[in-house]
Amino acid sequence: MNIHEYQAKQLLKKFGVRVPEGRLVEEGADLEKRAFQAGEDLARERSNGVWVVKAQIHAGGRGKAGGVKVCKDLSAVQAAAKEIVGKTLVTPQTGPQGKKVHKVWIEEGSAIARELYLGLVIDRAVSQVVMMASTEGGMEIEEVAAKHPEKIFKVAIDPTTGYQPFHGRKLADSLGLTPEQTKEAVGFFGGIYRCFIESDCSLVEINPMIVTQQGQLAALDAKFNFDDNALFRHPEIVAMRDLLEENPQDVEASKYELAYIALDGNIGCLVNGAGLAMATMDIIKLHGGEPANFLDVGGGASKEKVAHAFKIILKDPKVKAILVNIFGGIMKCDIIAEGIIAAAKELQLQVPLVVRLEGTNVEKGKEILAQSGLRIIPADGLTDAAQKVVAAAKGK
Ligand code: GDP
Ligand code: MN
Repeated sequence: MNIHEYQAKQLLKKFGVRVPEGRLVEEGADLEKRAFQAGEDLARERSNGVWVVKAQIHAGGRGKAGGVKVCKDLSAVQAAAKEIVGKTLVTPQTGPQGKKVHKVWIEEGSAIARELYLGLVIDRAVSQVVMMASTEGGMEIEEVAAKHPEKIFKVAIDPTTGYQPFHGRKLADSLGLTPEQTKEAVGFFGGIYRCFIESDCSLVEINPMIVTQQGQLAALDAKFNFDDNALFRHPEIVAMRDLLEENPQDVEASKYELAYIALDGNIGCLVNGAGLAMATMDIIKLHGGEPANFLDVGGGASKEKVAHAFKIILKDPKVKAILVNIFGGIMKCDIIAEGIIAAAKELQLQVPLVVRLEGTNVEKGKEILAQSGLRIIPADGLTDAAQKVVAAAKGK
């Protein structure tokens, strides 16, 4: 699960990490008036005469796409809010279709002396959280890793000891912080580490982490990912979920507890079991096709679950053919067949459907499909199924 920058900053603040103060302004009536008031309200607390209006979308790269505006007076704040809200931002992280902005975060402007990078990820190879820092703040870390790997500094943190001041001093030293700043950095990094662990994050990225002209550290941007398997422990984080930011098919899939991930291709896949789903995508690619999604209906899916899965696939306009690849173990092939038929009839299936069934009650399942009157292309084995669906997607 992801959250917005403004939510991430509120979370960081709880752990004592310095972030600029701000106000959220959402789309709707009197937007300009509310933006003006938010700016004025902020200036009452701290008046440095600079505001930043920032688009809140679940994607980075907003600055270069016109989603971050530094403003010198309240009328500029008003104008920036009007311009950004409702706009569709296209950044390297949104995909070509872009993301529509529904809310902006209006923040006190920061006087930046240095832009640095700080990232926390789980390194599976060493089973530890790794803290990464770089002097190249503001740039995408992938780009730094490719061009200047020597400018990325890392410390792995043993979970049995947790974060220790020496970890912070080591990173601060590699970033060239002054002794005064290093003292602050030890606490700053520690707060971020505690936030990462206690919130069950899988990624935290502060880009940029800044040194202000007064010599203080602050998180100017924040990107968080959470471990979905731990969300049950954090109702306050689940409450931050913004369904407007998520792919509607993903939202639908999570309602029925289906593991669904949209991809770029045109072959819809309905499979039971994550391993089989991966193998299905591989074999489609091997035969020259591109999967439109990963979809695992799980081991013991019901007829209804299969029907919902089918509907989700069919809502994707890119899908030109569907492959149902089921190994009936706990799940019986005849139940699957009934689910497929129910959904295909309800949705007046237009695209070619290739079905490969194997396992418990396979004969019964095949019979049900054959007698359904639907145009179903039966397949035997993975290769046959992949070849048939790839050909069908190409209109052959
Ligand atoms: P992103 O483009 O989505 O990663 O958005 P960021 O929050 O990282 O902002 C992009 C850039 O805008 C930063 O790298 C800064 O250079 C600039 N920026 C953001 N906030 C401020 C601010 O308060 N003052 C100034 N001067 N620049 C800012
Ligand atoms: Mn950023």
